[in-house]
Amino acid sequence: MNPLQVSVVVPMYNEEENLPELHTRLTRAMSKTGLPVEIVYVDDGSSDDTGEQLNTLLRQPQPVCVRVVQLPYRRGKTAALSAGFSVARGNIVVTTDADMQEPPEVLPMLVAQVQSGAAHLVVAWRQQRQDSPLRVWASRLFNAVLRWLTGVPLHDVNCGTKAMTREVAERLQPWMVSDMHRYLPLIASRMGYRVTEAPVPHVCRRRGRSRFGASRYLRAAVDLLPFSLWWWRGWLVWWSLAGSSLWLTAAGRPVGWLGLILAGAWAGGALLFWLKHGRR
Ligand code: UDP
Ligand code: MG
Repeated sequence: MNPLQVSVVVPMYNEEENLPELHTRLTRAMSKTGLPVEIVYVDDGSSDDTGEQLNTLLRQPQPVCVRVVQLPYRRGKTAALSAGFSVARGNIVVTTDADMQEPPEVLPMLVAQVQSGAAHLVVAWRQQRQDSPLRVWASRLFNAVLRWLTGVPLHDVNCGTKAMTREVAERLQPWMVSDMHRYLPLIASRMGYRVTEAPVPHVCRRRGRSRFGASRYLRAAVDLLPFSLWWWRGWLVWWSLAGSSLWLTAAGRPVGWLGLILAGAWAGGALLFWLKHGRR
């Protein structure tokens, strides 16, 4: 039997200001579970002092097992999580962000839900979100579209704080490319795992700044394409786009070509992705 019960994976890019408080709170919160725990910090090629601080932690005695993965250059949050998953040894794998916007003290509650068998993956649902109004509304719209597309009744799919069984983490690995971390709960649900959400408090990012700019919205849309055809509504969107574009083209409207190109790109992207990552 694997004696290590829980692995907490934290992706970090330039989080030197958050690391001291994060580490203190994380170790304290996880020690309270009474379970054997390891914390896996993944330094995503930080250019500040994060890497050095992590090495210092490794040299000091710690109440829980601390491990560090150093990526040679910045590869993005999904790749950082994936690198953490591949070394994690726990039966339950937890992820959280370094900025503590979801307080580390909520993690034992998520672990308990997975441990009890109530869920294979539980994702935190940020209550009273402390982000800009634009982000909050974009997130609400995004989640509403995802609920419509997939029928999975989650409200905060992209929250960085999650807990899952080791099996789920392993099955998700092939999907962890581009910025697909956003969709992990939906992918797990489509694979047949029980996915639930747990309300958690949310606080402002007090130190450092968000690492994602406005391009996150474009990347989220592009990343949605490969697996949207898993659901019949994804096909509905695709056929509507392709059908109306064909009709417009036949009616001599040049805009139809644009639709056809988009529909072709969607189908082509989905197919390529499936061939590369979807097959088992
Ligand atoms: N992060 C990372 N690599 C990146 C971008 C972000 O490892 O290229 C980490 C970051 O350090 C943080 C987590 O991913 O621990 C979430 O990032 P952030 O708080 O900037 O995202 P937001 O809350 O704005 O979505
Ligand atoms: Mg954040």
